[in-house]
Amino acid sequence: MKGSAARVKRRMKNVNCLSHGEQGIGLVCKHIAFAVDSGERVGFFWGDDADTARPDAWCRECEKTLVALNGRSTEGWFQEAAFEVCCAMCWDEAKAICGGFAN
Ligand SMILES: [Zn+2]
Ligand SMILES: [Zn+2]
Repeated sequence: MKGSAARVKRRMKNVNCLSHGEQGIGLVCKHIAFAVDSGERVGFFWGDDADTARPDAWCRECEKTLVALNGRSTEGWFQEAAFEVCCAMCWDEAKAICGGFAN
């Protein structure tokens, strides 16, 4: 299974977002968290294990590194990506901005 950041923060289900109020959470890598502010399209990939409102998401660079691991432990990758908690709505925005998934 790839990208299982959720297991680390499993206890945390909700966040009080400054923009969106109380929301479920999703995790994004630090590159996405940074790029979303500048509107940079760094790519947007996500895992399928979600016991949170949104699955973990990471950028193109992180995806490359992850693919290169080729099944080896993602522990170091996970630390390197430095996932940050964001609210589900912010996660959707990041997906639209960083991944270019806006309609
Ligand atoms: Zn990244
Ligand atoms: Zn938000």
